[in-house]
Amino acid sequence: MHQTSWGLSTRIFGAIIMVHGDDSGLVLPPAIAPTQVMVIPIQQKKEGVLDKAYELKETLIRSGFRTKVDDSDKSPGFKFSEQEMRGIPVRVEIGPRDIENGKCLICRRDNGEKIEVALDELSDTIAKLLVQIQQDMYDRAKKHLEEHTYEATTKEEFEKIFAERSGFVKAMWCGETECEEKIKEDMAVTSRCMPFEQKCLSDKCVYCNKPAKKMVYWGRAY
Ligand SMILES: [Zn+2]
Repeated sequence: MHQTSWGLSTRIFGAIIMVHGDDSGLVLPPAIAPTQVMVIPIQQKKEGVLDKAYELKETLIRSGFRTKVDDSDKSPGFKFSEQEMRGIPVRVEIGPRDIENGKCLICRRDNGEKIEVALDELSDTIAKLLVQIQQDMYDRAKKHLEEHTYEATTKEEFEKIFAERSGFVKAMWCGETECEEKIKEDMAVTSRCMPFEQKCLSDKCVYCNKPAKKMVYWGRAY
């Protein structure tokens, strides 16, 4: 149900949006995360806790979310760190007191926000949350990309920007593979994407001066 917006964003930004990270590890967008939700039982040795965790997992899987339970013997704190390191977008914490109150705690990996949710609203809340996280990550990536994108119309400008700044450069290109190969060889820079919204920055290729065919985002090759 979320395929339209996800497909578009991943196509436009390619590798840029695919992998995020912070000091705690990876931050994966829900669309590509192999596990979207990790259920972490608190005081799992207490009666009924693990059963409830498995029950929540089944409910979430039935609602279409890639869900796991961390039922290992590690401490909850350790499990939290592991879930954060792996970039799993959402964790659900469930302990004896939560079960008593018919609630659980949800924590977003991308911004650390914690939300208390009634157990019977868990699936609906997770559904909205995953869409929201995907959108927020997309918006942040887009903003970051815009803030680190420059324009060049001459070879000198093109080279100067890559020498002095980190980020991407919008520039016109002749469309010839030979020219692109040469740019890669000379500058270790490759074409990243051809935006749908084309803008004519100049009528000449930024590198070889032949007639320009399209505007391309260029970035350093890794
Ligand atoms: Zn060219």
